[in-house]
Amino acid sequence: MSKSCDECGLCCKLMGVLALDKPPSKWCVHFRRASGCGIYEDRPKDCRVFSCLWLLADNRLGDEWKPSVAGFLMHTNADGGLIVECDASNPHAWRKEPYRSSLQKSADSGQEVLVFVRRKGVQLQPFGGETPIHRKAT
Ligand code: SF4
Ligand code: SF4
Repeated sequence: MSKSCDECGLCCKLMGVLALDKPPSKWCVHFRRASGCGIYEDRPKDCRVFSCLWLLADNRLGDEWKPSVAGFLMHTNADGGLIVECDASNPHAWRKEPYRSSLQKSADSGQEVLVFVRRKGVQLQPFGGETPIHRKAT
């Protein structure tokens, strides 16, 4: 299965882009629903280097994990922790199945799993439980 962003573009909403002074959880002014990035050739480095986990992962993350389908995107931090970025307009999408159980399995295996809606979030605890967390402003 080959993966491509196609119609998605959710990272252009959920991720902040420092070079554009674009805050997280707000559509980039350059994003065009029909055609994607309006400054593709000149997009900042942050945009060039970012790929969500669905795009990077092999077939273990199937089509249902595509951010435009799931309603959230995932990436990893420098320590290998899993970051789930939720859309404030659909903040509980990650709680649906098969997502919730799969994220819990990652937490059960010892991986850090942090779920954010804007700056507020929860850390999934191994074998159940959620601890409220707050993301620092960047
Ligand atoms: S969230 Fe992932 S699949 Fe969607 S546009 Fe961004 S990199 Fe592509
Ligand atoms: S510059 Fe382009 S790739 Fe970067 S966030 Fe904006 S629309 Fe997306």
